[in-house]
Amino acid sequence: MPATITCDVAIVGGGLAGGLIALALKHKRPHCDVRLIEAGRAIGGNHLWSFFASDVAAADRWLVAPLISHSWAAYDVAFPAHGRTIAAPYHSIESSRLDAVVRAALPEDAVLLRRKVLAASNRAVVFADGDRIEAGGVIDCRGVGDLSTLECGWQKFYGRELALREAHGLERPVIMDATVDQSDGYRFVYTLPFGPARAFVEDTYYSDTPGVNVAMLGERIDDYVAAQGWHVDKVAREEAGSLPVAMGGDFEAYWQSGGNRVAKAGTRAGLFHPLTSYSLPDAVRTAALVAEARDLSGAALHELLHGFARNTWRQRRFYRMLAKMLFRAAEPAERYRVLERFYRLSPELIGRFYAGKSTLFDQMRTLSGKPPVPIGRAVSALTRNSK
Ligand SMILES: Cc1cc2nc3c(=O)[nH]c(=O)nc-3n(C[C@H](O)[C@H](O)[C@H](O)COP(=O)(O)OP(=O)(O)OC[C@H]3O[C@@H](n4cnc5c(N)ncnc54)[C@H](O)[C@@H]3O)c2cc1C
Repeated sequence: MPATITCDVAIVGGGLAGGLIALALKHKRPHCDVRLIEAGRAIGGNHLWSFFASDVAAADRWLVAPLISHSWAAYDVAFPAHGRTIAAPYHSIESSRLDAVVRAALPEDAVLLRRKVLAASNRAVVFADGDRIEAGGVIDCRGVGDLSTLECGWQKFYGRELALREAHGLERPVIMDATVDQSDGYRFVYTLPFGPARAFVEDTYYSDTPGVNVAMLGERIDDYVAAQGWHVDKVAREEAGSLPVAMGGDFEAYWQSGGNRVAKAGTRAGLFHPLTSYSLPDAVRTAALVAEARDLSGAALHELLHGFARNTWRQRRFYRMLAKMLFRAAEPAERYRVLERFYRLSPELIGRFYAGKSTLFDQMRTLSGKPPVPIGRAVSALTRNSK
């Protein structure tokens, strides 16, 4: 006999956005009866989420503080004609930590793992096995919606956490080493030093197509590691991804593709940075917003989160335009010049850019001076219709 569970708020999808909303509700609304439903065997899947301290408002730091696995006071970038250390704190969250913190914070019966959801409306959730949840409100956090409603390029990557035979000598993350071969599009290696002989090394590139060739990226990591003079003892963990870089698109169509009239959060709500594809800053803001909401009914949550996601989308036109410049105006081998130039700007401006909070002055500063790509192509890329 299928079972029916009742609760105040059902969160569908126990990834980054769903996990953070569950934690925020537990902290701010301890009497709210929450269910967090995840198809996988753990909350958060297999991820490493990194962010700059300036991505998270001081008022929201309590939410991410217990999740941080690694922290550094500064980071490096390297380009063919420019390298720099930027004094801005940087943090990483391991998904295993999110899983442990969520499970410790929520009652055992509030976290439903290995439960695949077939359908969600704004007050009900139906599981693949026929069970259902009837909730005061539902928030769908099942990851990306229909990306064909957006005009996308792709940020593709494959990373390995390496136990090395000897100390790597890095003091801080190298978040972009773009001195590597650039022939297929903007490419960089991202290295996080986790311990004296432990490092996470990821090969990333911006591409016109979504497929990830893990074998090729693995060879690139091998070459990079060898060029540093490091020797690998063991690969402790791997991760790969292909994330949308949004140049334009129809926000309402995207929202509806994830389910009409259902509240959504995370990438399902289009809440990611158009150029970096990172969603952590928005996921923290969304969780804080939900936890402060006066009304947690399905209709009110839909109103709140639809409004938040729509306004965020509108405010991000500048980043979509930059993404378009990166993909449409520059030849693949020259795309790095857009970023090389950007990384000469002030650390504060760079911080606001990653947080998705660039001011009008920042936008003018980013675009002023000689364009790093041919002006004719830049103008034609930018004047093509985009939302
Ligand atoms: C490998 C990788 C590394 C990344 N690194 C960063 C980073 O460093 N910083 C950053 O800000 N962003 C990063 N991103 C981008 C983005 O922030 C992440 O993809 C983030 O996890 C998106 O959060 P989300 O909650 O929207 O989706 P997810 O975290 O993907 O969560 C969706 C969850 O829903 C579950 N689900 C899906 N369908 C069902 C169903 N039918 N029933 C039940 N559960 C279901 C999934 O199993 C999943 O756990 C990374 C992405 C990837 C893939």
